[in-house]
Amino acid sequence: MKILVLNCGSSSLKVGVFEIAEKAAEIFKATYEKFEAGSCSYKITKDGVAETGEAPFGDIAAVLTALPQIFDSHQVTQLEAVGHRIVHGGAKFQTAVVLDEAAITAIEALTPLAPLHNPANLLAVHIAKDVWPHLPQVAVFDTAFHATNPPRATTYAVPKAWRDAGLRRFGFHGTSHKYVAMRAAEEIGEPLRDLQIVSVHLGNGASVCAVNRGESIDTSMGMTPLEGLVMGTRSGDVDPGLFGFLLRHLGLSIIDVEQALYSESGLKGLTGSSDMRDVEDRAGKGDADAQLAIELFAYRARKYIGAYAAAMGGLDAVVFTGGIGENSPSMRRRICDGLEFMGLRLDHDRNQCVELANHAAPQIQAYGARVRVIVTETAEQLMIARETAAALAPKATVSEPIPVAVSARHVHLSRPAVEALFGAGYHLTPAIPLRQPGQWAASERVALEGPKGRLERVAILGPERPQTQIEISRTDGFALGIDAPVRDSGKLDGTPTIRLMGPAGNLDTDGLIVAARHIHTNPDEARRLGLADGVVVDVYIGDEERGLVFGKTLVRVGANSVTEMHIDTDEANAADIRVTGEGSLVPDLRAVAVTNRD
Ligand code: ADP
Repeated sequence: MKILVLNCGSSSLKVGVFEIAEKAAEIFKATYEKFEAGSCSYKITKDGVAETGEAPFGDIAAVLTALPQIFDSHQVTQLEAVGHRIVHGGAKFQTAVVLDEAAITAIEALTPLAPLHNPANLLAVHIAKDVWPHLPQVAVFDTAFHATNPPRATTYAVPKAWRDAGLRRFGFHGTSHKYVAMRAAEEIGEPLRDLQIVSVHLGNGASVCAVNRGESIDTSMGMTPLEGLVMGTRSGDVDPGLFGFLLRHLGLSIIDVEQALYSESGLKGLTGSSDMRDVEDRAGKGDADAQLAIELFAYRARKYIGAYAAAMGGLDAVVFTGGIGENSPSMRRRICDGLEFMGLRLDHDRNQCVELANHAAPQIQAYGARVRVIVTETAEQLMIARETAAALAPKATVSEPIPVAVSARHVHLSRPAVEALFGAGYHLTPAIPLRQPGQWAASERVALEGPKGRLERVAILGPERPQTQIEISRTDGFALGIDAPVRDSGKLDGTPTIRLMGPAGNLDTDGLIVAARHIHTNPDEARRLGLADGVVVDVYIGDEERGLVFGKTLVRVGANSVTEMHIDTDEANAADIRVTGEGSLVPDLRAVAVTNRD
């Protein structure tokens, strides 16, 4: 599928044309900027050949209107869809959407949240609709990747009336953070869902994102792209008390202060220049302001990396991207220096010799360092093209029953755990066989105890396992007073400790998780259903009244597994499923529609 991507900012336009097939290829790339007095500068790259110069376009609208002629003269033909970068999707847009009138109106309504960005993005939408009326248009949102941030990361501790009015954290650069995290996982050679990554995007705008097992769980930009790191002209984190101080002492209005925090702060406020190359040059020549700016920029980034390692409870890799992250070895070094205590150590030669052509993602950590450090160019346009193609993929449905089982809280015990709880040499008593062959519920029970409360008579599932694992729901976590992470079965490193209580003794053990929803199946059925081990599918559950889609359901193919989807009690209650249910597979979406059986 040939896709035109338009990334339209307030002062520049980036254009990309991609062929999205098994692999994605960039066919055409152009940037138009520095618009003044009826002309602008441009750079076009086609077939590896770059062409730069002045073009007779006085504004972005003029370039957009002329794109068909520009494509003709570069033999770019047969476009099939247009993908747009839209900065703010608010709480409403959590994935890419095909743009119809209702979606465009909803994006327009979000303008107060991104007054500079969304109107510029929408200009491209309106002109593209006129220029290519027959092509479908898709919006891909910078905020969407952060839709998985939990309320504790998105909520400001402010009065309810403000929160009710929509004040909350959203986060930006989502397309970039998602891309570089995926690229890093590819480079490391492990599934993204097994990795804890901090993505550090350092461009004119800058942000850090905690990508925990494939999901953004926190990011440094907030309701607007002003929060967080020191940026080219934006302040990043400040004390909101400064509004009162500046009003009383300098007579500045809220609008004055806001404008200065966006446009006169950051590197520019500290040094007079927003360009890191200038700042680094001046620092090298002994300019004290530039030196402080560099220290502050690095210090803020380092603090966020540490904070997000703590937020995730672990760290496998830090990925640098954006103009500064990609090109400044000294800034990468300053940020990483001092993080050795976390197992993060740079190899200074590798850091110095980073080569990023052809989507390379070199690793620059020292040999033997536990945490990887990766540098890669961001590819927001490519990601927008991929998401555009995915949003337009056919959504045919085929009926295929899939049983659904609801897992109430339970534990799997290791041999030492059985002995600690029930006595030396004790063996559990299989009582009720489960659907998965060889698995059973024992007649014995245990109690769970946390700092807040106790859960009695919790089921034990056999046979014994090498590691003890305790699976609870989010609601159980509140009853116990412990915040358990959502994990795939067996991924227990860094999980919280809980007390198990049996007739012969107690056991304090880690391994407490909220089990990630999953579908068990066997190789034959997987083939028939179009599934494969490790893929993640969306699942539609429920009836017309309470039906909802559960995203990110992991498929686990085992030689002897029986096809069955497992959800926990919170999920079942949300979708109004009782103990069991039945569904049907939707191959193109890889989704399962589940209806109530009870
Ligand atoms: P945007 O956020 O506008 O896409 P970029 O990702 O292009 O911005 O990043 C621009 C920033 O990258 C500028 O501060 C620029 O000085 C910085 N930069 C680019 N090349 C280098 C370099 N070689 N050394 C240090 N900083 C660099």
